[in-house]
Amino acid sequence: MTDKTCYNCNVTENDKPVLNMHYMGKEIYVCPQCLPNLIHKPEVIQETLLNAVK
Ligand SMILES: [Zn+2]
Repeated sequence: MTDKTCYNCNVTENDKPVLNMHYMGKEIYVCPQCLPNLIHKPEVIQETLLNAVK
């Protein structure tokens, strides 16, 4: 399994393009489908995001 996996839905770069982002000193990846949540509903995905950088 590649480490370039969407933090939210676990889609990999082999399935879709994923964007590389940086959060709290760590790298995360997010796919285009999950990016709108990150932009518009940060409070909803905050917990998932914190788990992703643990
Ligand atoms: Zn995703």
